[in-house]
Amino acid sequence: MLKKLFDRAFGRKPATSPANAPGTQASAKVDAVAINLQVIARDGHCISRKHISPNALRVLYKLRDAGFTAYLVGGAVRDLLLQGLPKDFDVATNAHPEQVKHLFRNCRLIGRRFRLAHVHYGAEIIEVATFRGIEDDGSGARELVDGRIVRDNVYGTIEEDAVRRDFTVNALYYAIDDYSVRDYVGGFQDVRDRVLRLIGEPTRRLREDPVRMLRTARFAAKLGFSIDPAIVSAISQLKDLLNAAPAARLFDECLKMFMAGYALASFRQLWQLRLFEVLFPETALALRADPADLVLLETALTSTDQRIADDKPVTPAFLFAALLWPAVKVMAARNQQRGAEDPWDDAIHSVVSEQTSRIALPKRFSLPMQEIWSLQSRFETRQKKRVGRLLAHPRFRAAFDFLALRAHADPTLQPTLAFWLSLASGEAAASASTLGDLPTAADGEALSPPKKRRRRRRKPRLDANQTAGAGDHDAG
Ligand code: ATP
Ligand code: MG
Repeated sequence: MLKKLFDRAFGRKPATSPANAPGTQASAKVDAVAINLQVIARDGHCISRKHISPNALRVLYKLRDAGFTAYLVGGAVRDLLLQGLPKDFDVATNAHPEQVKHLFRNCRLIGRRFRLAHVHYGAEIIEVATFRGIEDDGSGARELVDGRIVRDNVYGTIEEDAVRRDFTVNALYYAIDDYSVRDYVGGFQDVRDRVLRLIGEPTRRLREDPVRMLRTARFAAKLGFSIDPAIVSAISQLKDLLNAAPAARLFDECLKMFMAGYALASFRQLWQLRLFEVLFPETALALRADPADLVLLETALTSTDQRIADDKPVTPAFLFAALLWPAVKVMAARNQQRGAEDPWDDAIHSVVSEQTSRIALPKRFSLPMQEIWSLQSRFETRQKKRVGRLLAHPRFRAAFDFLALRAHADPTLQPTLAFWLSLASGEAAASASTLGDLPTAADGEALSPPKKRRRRRRKPRLDANQTAGAGDHDAG
């Protein structure tokens, strides 16, 4: 079966042929990278136009009809070869952004660092990038700071564009003229071998853009590919460069790693590559000290992945609450030892300020995250009035789900969870819970029932409409 799928994906014989396209030398070097163009004909791969977004095809044809060259490129080609569904469709062309804008009425130019054309079709955006060049033309269009590319609007040939991309598997071009796949740097074979290899010398490519280290973890997780050992060793030397990466970009990368259905695998890759400790240093220390925190975090990540698979909403507030909770706990314990008046509040504030300077978590997520944490201590109360107030709190649901997460990792919290679960009208709450797939108090016989069911004036409602979970607690 697997073999059949594989043959279908790549064709029975890899019908590659060396290039004889004009302007392409079969074995040239561009920017110290060997270019060896292989053209994989239509019968040598599985990409069919019917799997390509009609809007992307529209863009490709229109550019071609206007006399430009244009290819589908990057993740879409890679994912189509793997028989996956591309998230989006990117186009690379020799047309300059202004020329693209001129051709499409529904086009907007975006980006300062990397100027790009976005062609809008309703909710779908086709990203059109002009081939990036190698040579700095001295115009200031490319800007480097300490070897890092901070701006790159130098345009060039397709060969130059290929070697400027990150991984070989991300540098494949699909041509609409003859439906071939054009491979300049060996990406087609690397897709077959399921291996991530950076184009060019790994330490240089990672210095140029340290976020590529996170992209390594992300693609290894998403695609289940192995990582070229040369990248692993380069990352071990250079991981601290990530500290200098812009906080906003790190937040974006975190979303891509943790909110796209492969959060657990991403976490494990980050951990193995020792990048997690650069992104979340306090959490990493806490996880080493207390394996229960690892259970909590991995459970949260698994549950996030499950919700995405079930097409349920997820929010970074809940996810970051789980990612940083171990750090908050350690810090609160330290504050307590020092005799601080408000050990938890102080811990929450210092973790948030330290972490947001590293990863730019927007306030619309960090505020609900802090509320989720702050409410945890209030679950200890049994006072009628306070219980009622907590049940009516707008963030109760999220905080309750977080309690369930904590109780999963720490059985001593199960009686507390059972108490609140019974108040929050039992079964409906359990089935609507984010952590509905976790063994919560509702299905644990070992749990002690709440001692006494309190009478309340107002029955709190937690019905199925009031869905819970990582996605429903966005304050925004
Ligand atoms: P995904 O399916 O997750 O979006 P993708 O491969 O499309 O994966 P993007 O981040 O959307 O990834 O980038 C599109 C393409 O742009 C990549 O395939 C790669 O060729 C190129 N690219 C993106 N980021 C970088 C980078 N930091 N360095 C070099 N090339 C990059
Ligand atoms: Mg993409």
